[in-house]
Amino acid sequence: MMKQELAPANLTDIARTVLKKRYLLKNEHGDVIETPETMFWRVAETIAAVDARYGASAEQVEERAERFYHLMTQGYFEPNSPTLMNAGRPLGQLSACFVLPIDDNLTSIYETLKHQALIHQSGGGTGFSFSRLRPRNDVVRSTMGVASGPVSFMDVYNHSTEAIKQGGTRRGANMGILRCDHPDILEFITCKLDTTKITNFNISVAITDAFMRAVERDEEYDLINPRTGLGQIASRDGLKHPLTGEVLVPAGQPMRLRARMVFDLIVQCAHATGEPGLFFIDRANEYNPVPHLGEYEATNPCGEQPLLAYDVCNLGSINLGKFVTDAGTIDWESLRDVVHESTRFLDNVIDANHYPLEQITQLSQRIRRIGLGVMGWADMLVRLGIPYNSAQAIDLARQVMRFIDEESKVASEQLARERGPFPEWEYSIWGPDATCARRPDGSRIRPQRLLRNCNVTTVAPTGTISIIAGCSSGIEPLFAIAFWRYQADTRMLDINQDFVAQAKREGWYSDELMERIADTGHIHHPEVPASVQRVWVTAHDIAPEWHVRMQAAFQEYTDSAISKTINFPHEATPDQVREAYELAFRLGCKGITVYRDGSRANQVLSTGSTG
Ligand code: ADP
Repeated sequence: MMKQELAPANLTDIARTVLKKRYLLKNEHGDVIETPETMFWRVAETIAAVDARYGASAEQVEERAERFYHLMTQGYFEPNSPTLMNAGRPLGQLSACFVLPIDDNLTSIYETLKHQALIHQSGGGTGFSFSRLRPRNDVVRSTMGVASGPVSFMDVYNHSTEAIKQGGTRRGANMGILRCDHPDILEFITCKLDTTKITNFNISVAITDAFMRAVERDEEYDLINPRTGLGQIASRDGLKHPLTGEVLVPAGQPMRLRARMVFDLIVQCAHATGEPGLFFIDRANEYNPVPHLGEYEATNPCGEQPLLAYDVCNLGSINLGKFVTDAGTIDWESLRDVVHESTRFLDNVIDANHYPLEQITQLSQRIRRIGLGVMGWADMLVRLGIPYNSAQAIDLARQVMRFIDEESKVASEQLARERGPFPEWEYSIWGPDATCARRPDGSRIRPQRLLRNCNVTTVAPTGTISIIAGCSSGIEPLFAIAFWRYQADTRMLDINQDFVAQAKREGWYSDELMERIADTGHIHHPEVPASVQRVWVTAHDIAPEWHVRMQAAFQEYTDSAISKTINFPHEATPDQVREAYELAFRLGCKGITVYRDGSRANQVLSTGSTG
């Protein structure tokens, strides 16, 4: 099908530049041979073509392609980057998130290393649990040697990522996870204090509910060797605190640690470098839609997708700012239409996809996981005149995400009627009473629903697609109202256009004021009315607690998890980081990631100091 006249895409200059640099097709000489319009049509056509497999006529497919084209070119919805880059092209790998298993033997470790390379080459990100690997210095019978442990293999994976990235357009991203009861947990927690190490990984500790209880009660817990399933005994040197050198467990003694000491170390490192984050693994597994197929051990690189081994998710995000009317209300009807169309889009992506591994193809077809999320949340709030750090914003977050999650499930039910439910439906948490998963108290985890997709909602970071759609990213607050952008030796003022419009409408606009805002990095100037200052809050004005509460509000109505950074000012204390971590657990988040302003750039905590 060749589309003769494509309606122009509504894109900012920056969006066009990003597309040209990284997304548009190039020939072998490196010349760009696509326009943004032909790129979006390539994607729309490829994804709509799937409808034909389910009986749609050529005319219906064409209509569907036009609707998809409209959604993407007008910035209502964008699929994740691999779909934009690869749909309708020979590689055809359309998903952003993968998790691969690593078993405790060299064959598995290096098989999965190879698979990691193939996935990165195709533009996907990978997550791994290293928890099944035996600890450092444990026996290796076949060679009579000693094991080098999870952190050393993580380093191998990191180096491989480094090599692959030199070839491709997109730097590979990884998530590395270790359970809090693994014998090497202290080494893992501190492995990124040297900020030049393991740079292609985000790391998170898999935290169990039992561990959090032990923290609360100030109890000890056992470290377990995954090879034997038994408690680990400290070797010749005993177990030492990685920063102070203090002997925590003498040689020959069972390894038991004070949960609070471990939690303190996590907090101290996260305060210093932003890592490790936490992955609340029991919480995530409670919502595993297909527990009969395995447990969640790890997430994708940015944390929004807990996944099974060889599991995959294709993401797409709706731009919420587009649904605020001129009257300052939300256009729920249009939002419903876009949710339905986007759900269909993502379901089609599963069938249009070419995965690099057969195991992934199989599982993706059996559970049909999709990840519909949002971006432009901060834009929506300022257009409605609601401060991000307010109870009203938290209430609206629940209302909006509940609506999207429900409508996406209604759309998935419609798809199930047309095309059948996902093949594992009957045994999933959505299945009939006889087979559904239940909580220990006997209650169903989820009501019975005949769905086409085992999971529908998530909140991705939308790092690039928010630039393409010209909106604020994910559910993050605005980063700045105005700032100086340096491009090709010129200094350009980049100002939020809604802010400019409001200033002009209300009569307090001046070029000089906008420049002053960019110079000072804030809007607390006498010309800016107090009510405007209250609504136009940026990431740094917002107390960490509000960041966590916002994440938790979206999590309540999201099947998978939420990608969110909890921002701290530079002067924040470790105790404030601890409070955020504990609050995230209490409020039902599935994980948390923090970042303290300026910490990674100029602060390297070395072994032996306490920072
Ligand atoms: P985008 O805006 O480009 O679609 P996001 O910033 O929303 O992507 O990230 C979504 C997911 O894509 C991440 O959680 C991760 O799984 C994957 N991802 C992001 N950046 C990379 C990268 N550089 N390499 C590989 N995968 C990535």
